[in-house]
Amino acid sequence: MEDEIIYLDHNATTPVDPRVKEEMLPYLGEEYGNPSSLYRLARGASQAVDRAREQVAGVLGCKPEEVIFTGCGTEADNLAIKGVGMALRSKGNHIITSEIEHHAVLKACEWMEKQGFDVTYLGVDEYGRVSPEDVKSALRDETILVSIMHANNEVGTIQPLEEIGRLLADRDVYFHTDAVQTFGKRSYSVDDLGVDLLSLSAHKIYGPKGVGALYLRRGTKIETLLHGGGHENNRRSGTENVAGIVGLGKAAQLSEQYIEEEAGRLKKLRDRLEEGILESIDEVTVNGHKDHRMEHTLSVCVRFIEGESMLLHLDSKGVAASSGSACTSGTLDPSHVLLAMGIPAEVAHGSLRLSLGRSNTREQIDYVVEILPEIVQRLRDMSPLYKK
Ligand SMILES: *Cc1c(COP(=O)(O)O)cnc(C)c1O
Repeated sequence: MEDEIIYLDHNATTPVDPRVKEEMLPYLGEEYGNPSSLYRLARGASQAVDRAREQVAGVLGCKPEEVIFTGCGTEADNLAIKGVGMALRSKGNHIITSEIEHHAVLKACEWMEKQGFDVTYLGVDEYGRVSPEDVKSALRDETILVSIMHANNEVGTIQPLEEIGRLLADRDVYFHTDAVQTFGKRSYSVDDLGVDLLSLSAHKIYGPKGVGALYLRRGTKIETLLHGGGHENNRRSGTENVAGIVGLGKAAQLSEQYIEEEAGRLKKLRDRLEEGILESIDEVTVNGHKDHRMEHTLSVCVRFIEGESMLLHLDSKGVAASSGSACTSGTLDPSHVLLAMGIPAEVAHGSLRLSLGRSNTREQIDYVVEILPEIVQRLRDMSPLYKK
């Protein structure tokens, strides 16, 4: 098992499904037309983009014209927050979000503050959940947008969006969700959630990197971020990433199979991993909600050691994992998500995220359960904080 890569970082990215790649290839080759041009070569590309829009809309239960393709999930989040803010500036300047959002939302909100907007960052409980009551109490006459993520990328906790959606339904406030971690992994429609805007990304569901989409409920006012040729119905200019969009569409279409067959298998594997770790290592806590949690995500805090040193040792044994989120690794600050959940900084430093996916087998999980206790013991023996 030593030469094989055991990939346990599916919340950071996933490999492209061979069926997705196959679907994309013609658009990297002979089907190179610009979808906006007026000849036959272009029509093939334009029809492929339309088909992908229908495939994404099919998963979201919305109309194809409510889907705007973007360059990534980060862009979809930025378009939602800045676009709504700029469009409704004269109506109000207050935005509500949470402390555990992805940086694509948090940093966009911080930028909005510099533009004169007032942002409320709601706290979460110890399981990482936002309370719908807190959303309600934070609402003001000037509130124009509520942005709460669907499932958290670090701990997997799923937010009560349906409840928040219901309480916002009869108010004149837009509701956005960053659903990058749930799109294609859970079965729901935009109406079930009650959202007006929803961000998604292809590379978290076995599609290519560099393509995402924003669902925008018909009639929702939004300002564009990219001015130019008026693509995507004037919402996002720039010649379409045809191959990427085709890949996103195919990945979305294949996700039905994932939801029906794969989610149950991954939950069994994740639970086996969780139990194995809890049984063989002491002073370990599991982060996130017990029930309202994505079935393939396991986040733990291992006391007295650093997450990064666990990662290096795991890597030397062929295991790819993460401590916290991919976007914050490289800095040594503890995860903002774990801190918001009330986990002390010194405990949050020992966080390890294992996120499962298609390639993972029971043998791989058993291997990780076998090697992790040895790694932890070796690191603890060197740690001045650990008393045997
Ligand atoms: C990965 C991720 C993003 C960013 O998507 P990109 O396509 O990588 O820009 C945003 N939000 C969440 C929750 C994510 O997991």
